Amino acid sequence: MFELQPYVAPAWASKLSAVPQHRYRLAQLPTPIHPWPVSVPPGCELHIKRDDLTGMQLSGNKVRKLEFLLAEAVERGHDCIITIGGIQSNHARATAVAARYLGLPCHLILRNSKKLADSDPGMVGNLLVERLMGAHVYQVTKEEYGQYGGPALGEKLAAQLRDQGLNPYVIPVGGSSSTGVWGYLDMVHELEQQIEGQGFTDIAMACGSGGTTAGIALGNRLAGLGLRVHAYGVCDDPAYFHAFSDGLLEGLGATPAVVGADSAGLFRAVQAKGAGYAISREEELRAVAKVAAATGVILDPVYTGKAVHMLLQEMRERPEAWQGRKVLFVHTGGLLGMYDKASELGSLVPPAQRLALDLPRKK
Ligand SMILES: *Cc1c(COP(=O)(O)O)cnc(C)c1O
Repeated sequence: MFELQPYVAPAWASKLSAVPQHRYRLAQLPTPIHPWPVSVPPGCELHIKRDDLTGMQLSGNKVRKLEFLLAEAVERGHDCIITIGGIQSNHARATAVAARYLGLPCHLILRNSKKLADSDPGMVGNLLVERLMGAHVYQVTKEEYGQYGGPALGEKLAAQLRDQGLNPYVIPVGGSSSTGVWGYLDMVHELEQQIEGQGFTDIAMACGSGGTTAGIALGNRLAGLGLRVHAYGVCDDPAYFHAFSDGLLEGLGATPAVVGADSAGLFRAVQAKGAGYAISREEELRAVAKVAAATGVILDPVYTGKAVHMLLQEMRERPEAWQGRKVLFVHTGGLLGMYDKASELGSLVPPAQRLALDLPRKK
């Protein structure tokens, strides 16, 4: 059904190291860009790039990374995939789907609360898709995850599977390895052609494991797009994102000597985690509900909802800073994660009504 395709990197990326030789074509590309009628300060324009429409069962931004990650896995002769994430990880679900398309068994290590990690995790949202795909689900507690870290847990399961004669390929949290970043370097190549001559000045996105931001920010610099890059961090602090991104960039050979800047020079990291990763505040959910009702676009509570809430808050607090700007928000997906917050969101929308029937009866 899918075959490895030769990959030719954009000319501006040729000086990077470890340029991938192959990719799979799993996503529906290019994703559309359109004006987004969310209320912003006068003199500012907002548009949206619909990476929530990449296809592959609502895989959002993750499928762009998986095109390169799974190509590397198959090229190197691996026969199954391991990845790691939160219990409602969009990345884990995207990986389960993509692996199934390619016929590769998929093993998911999912972080859950202590109380829940010993019982069946259920079938809500992303879990439903993963389990329908036949992915093998292993749970760990948040404490275990904190104690050992994702890489060690992935390696532990890999060793167990190797003992069974398998040859697993381990994808890190969020697909954010240097290989995964190529998905968003390539997205910048797509963007270059889409926005040429249109006067965009800024690009904004949610930032979780950092690969999407690193790819966009590096591509923006190398391709000379000149956009200001705003990364709204939903799980860690700006200092963490810069340090982590510097590591990813180094893995790509994009050191300050080559690029002329470190990650702090390539993008602005903004604190948007609110009450903590995957914990929603009412004002964030209100923003999700308001944007849906105003524009028909559904944001997710964990990533894009928090990013847009903070972007709009920044615009309200300092409208003069956004005067004359033309901003592109990259919608990274996450629709299925919304089901996890269905009851909280439900309390923010008008109730359904019973239709009053005082019609003459049919004979
Ligand atoms: C994973 C994810 C992000 C964050 O992307 P990173 O590359 O991990 O920073 C943003 N939005 C959604 C919906 C996601 O699933």
